[in-house]
Amino acid sequence: MSPIDDLPPLRDVIRRHDLAPKKSLGQNFLLDLNLTSRIARAGGRLDGVTVIEVGPGPGGLTRALLAEGARKVVAIEKDSRAIAALEEIASRYPGRLEIVEGDALEIAMEGLAGDGPARVIANLPYNVATPLLTGWVATEAWPPWWDGLVVMFQREVAERIVAKPGDDAYGRLGVLCGWRCEASIAFDVSPQAFTPPPKVTSSVVRLTPRPTPLACPVRDLEAVTQAAFGQRRKMLRQSLKGLGDAQALLSAAGLEPTRRAEEIPVEGFVALARAVAARRG
Ligand code: SAM
Repeated sequence: MSPIDDLPPLRDVIRRHDLAPKKSLGQNFLLDLNLTSRIARAGGRLDGVTVIEVGPGPGGLTRALLAEGARKVVAIEKDSRAIAALEEIASRYPGRLEIVEGDALEIAMEGLAGDGPARVIANLPYNVATPLLTGWVATEAWPPWWDGLVVMFQREVAERIVAKPGDDAYGRLGVLCGWRCEASIAFDVSPQAFTPPPKVTSSVVRLTPRPTPLACPVRDLEAVTQAAFGQRRKMLRQSLKGLGDAQALLSAAGLEPTRRAEEIPVEGFVALARAVAARRG
């Protein structure tokens, strides 16, 4: 298979720029450019799309995103050691790679996305992956600024994202993501694909925003799922007590008080969140 560009192999880049992987930054690099190209393509064609990439590291996925035709890639990286390596890629693709040095948890990404379709595609650092996802999906404004998320998670987190009622992995993350998005696992990636290999299998997850999810306030949905799944094996009449008159809320939502969180579909949680909002007035 021919290389995706004429830049040096990633192992050389890592050596020249002293990018020995740091555990504290969740650095497990992908050096196989066929695999990074597959991730880049997993959310559909990139022509005309601005991609926000969190954690480009030495740039394997960044290179694939550019080679696959992204209009622009905005790459947010916390590790200052990686910036010079990324600048080499930027000079190979003039005007198409913007490098932002900083902590992705503290950066307002919407402002970086520009006009036209924007997509998040990233091999995320696992230590901040879930808060980043929650931030993207629980944003007040909907439809959101992104038209898709294609992101790598530990397999166990991926299963929670796509879980349905009755699944062991069904919980707060599954309700939030299922409420606002169509979520699916695109493919698994074995530990051996990374340098260094992590302990667990990873999965690339695809999330597409639903144009018109059932209306309810995000904060109330989060409050009811937190209460319900905080005691997931208890009946709702018990687990929702912290929210006030649980029986009245359940009756307003049309749910049997003897049911448990793990059996309730997204629509049920939305009805509960609406009942909480209505009581607040
Ligand atoms: N995308 C590269 C690849 O696939 O080889 C690197 C992926 S590595 C799993 C995660 C990357 O995220 C590292 O480059 C790390 O320095 C960066 N990172 C860690 N925490 C970050 C944060 N809070 N904000 C931005 N980047 C972060």
